Amino acid sequence: MTAQVIDGKAFAAKIRGRVAEHVARLKADHGITPGLAVVLVGEDPASSVYVRSKGKQTLEAGMNSYEHKLPAETSEESLLALVKRLNDDPAVHGILVQLPLPKHLNSDLVINSIDPAKDVDGFHVSNVGLLGTGQKAMVPCTPLGCLLLLRDLHGSLAGMDAVVIGRSNIVGKPMAQLLLGDSATVTIAHSKTKDLPEVVRRADIVVAAVGRARMVPGDWIKPGATVIDVGINRTAGENGKDVLVGDVDYASAAQVAGAITPVPGGVGPMTIACLLANTVTACCRANGLPEPE
Ligand code: NDP
Repeated sequence: MTAQVIDGKAFAAKIRGRVAEHVARLKADHGITPGLAVVLVGEDPASSVYVRSKGKQTLEAGMNSYEHKLPAETSEESLLALVKRLNDDPAVHGILVQLPLPKHLNSDLVINSIDPAKDVDGFHVSNVGLLGTGQKAMVPCTPLGCLLLLRDLHGSLAGMDAVVIGRSNIVGKPMAQLLLGDSATVTIAHSKTKDLPEVVRRADIVVAAVGRARMVPGDWIKPGATVIDVGINRTAGENGKDVLVGDVDYASAAQVAGAITPVPGGVGPMTIACLLANTVTACCRANGLPEPE
């Protein structure tokens, strides 16, 4: 059996198309242009690439993009002052502070200083609480992207056994909450989990968010299961050049799984598409307008 390849790139393009249509309507009918502010502190190469593509795709969707690049030695005080200015700016509907921040800055403090209504990453403790209690929240973009792929594939996830490998605040935990919200039976695995292969073998849905190249081999996968690979790992390819691989060993897993996301081209493009969608949602809420579906 060879698994169906889940085309996150095409699905993300569809979401971006819908976002652009909504933005065009907001402009035409209400004279409102959604705005996303992205704050980057320091020059982490991966973060710089993400911020560049976020800015580009924001503009392509017809929204305003405000990029704030600050030196690595920026003080906490001036970062907090910038966040406050963005909170108070009515042209800014979404604020994203790119993580990781340099070590001298307290990420929790900075993230929790963002107005929860503008917290399009969904990392503010208020949004985490709202999501955990099943209330209307800003939902973290990567897990939201995974959920949309799963819903598109399966329709209902009710009663399915889902295993999320990884318990970070950014991916693993919110992913588990979203799956639970869709009535899957959820197990969260992590570095202390006993007999991880057996835990994974029970799953109809496996979401791997670990950050270890090709850690999950095909023989951990239940035949026919759906595999969502969040991992982005840079590793040496056959020709000596760096290649991007996931947390799942794609070659062997694709022989067993029913459906699988590739890396790149699976979850990655969904993250930015969901960020744009969250920004439009935040803009609609701020203006008392109906939200996109
Ligand atoms: P973190 O490092 O914050 O979390 C990794 C998790 O994996 C931890 O909970 C850790 O467990 C667990 N883990 C580590 N080793 C093992 C092991 N041997 N067995 C089982 N669990 C283990 O990573 P993130 O959640 O931020 O990211 C995970 C991956 O997803 C990375 O590759 C990252 O690049 C990628 N990513 C991709 C995005 C996208 O847009 N596609 C967006 C965000 C992240 P413990 O808690 O016990 O230490």
